[in-house]
Amino acid sequence: MKKLKLISVVILLFILINFNISIVKAFEEEKNSNLFTICIDAGHQKKADSKLEAVSPNSDSKKPRVSQGTEGVGTKKAEYIVNLEAAFFLREVLYNKGYNVVMTRESHDVNISNIERAEIANKAKADMTIRIHCDSIRDSIKTGATILIPSSKSNNTKSIYEASNKFANILKDNLKKEGIKVNGIFERSDITGFNWSKVPVVILEMGFMSNYNEDKMLCDENYQKKLMNIVAESIDKYKENEELKM
Ligand SMILES: [Zn+2]
Repeated sequence: MKKLKLISVVILLFILINFNISIVKAFEEEKNSNLFTICIDAGHQKKADSKLEAVSPNSDSKKPRVSQGTEGVGTKKAEYIVNLEAAFFLREVLYNKGYNVVMTRESHDVNISNIERAEIANKAKADMTIRIHCDSIRDSIKTGATILIPSSKSNNTKSIYEASNKFANILKDNLKKEGIKVNGIFERSDITGFNWSKVPVVILEMGFMSNYNEDKMLCDENYQKKLMNIVAESIDKYKENEELKM
């Protein structure tokens, strides 16, 4: 009799443990399928590639695969280096928040065209692509961040305009709240990386490397971290809004 009792306790325990394991598994699977994917594209690369590629899927107009990018007026630091430094900070913050992150590049010595960068995000079915750049202009007084989004009028990007614009507005508001000057949100139909994208995408021009002070700030780790924290918080807000819709 005692033996029978023991056997039934063991069986019961076995059932309970298995039941628990399957619940945990189901939970984890759900969590993974709910992961929000962010593609981070650190603009440019060590060497420009002047070979041409189509600006959009249905256009004859062509642009270099990857342009040179700018360089700090005072620091002489290359834009592609600053962009990747910031991209790594953003990746770290997003990882810690539990996002799935895809990087178009993790080193400088690569050759990945703007079409190829868009295709990396498309393949990953990214919920949002953040392209990180720095600006430059002949007017050395000009400062501030600028946000670029795909055109609402272009046939290639009509379908990703709304989501891109929503995120851009959240980002703009958050940057301003943190005291960062924003020059505005501008629609662009001439950007290869936008026209080939099937997922929402923005470019954040973090500031002007043609301005002496802003160049120094953009090369400063703490300023990069501040900007990338704002980007990450904006992604949180965008994701929250998207989930409310579901
Ligand atoms: Zn750039």
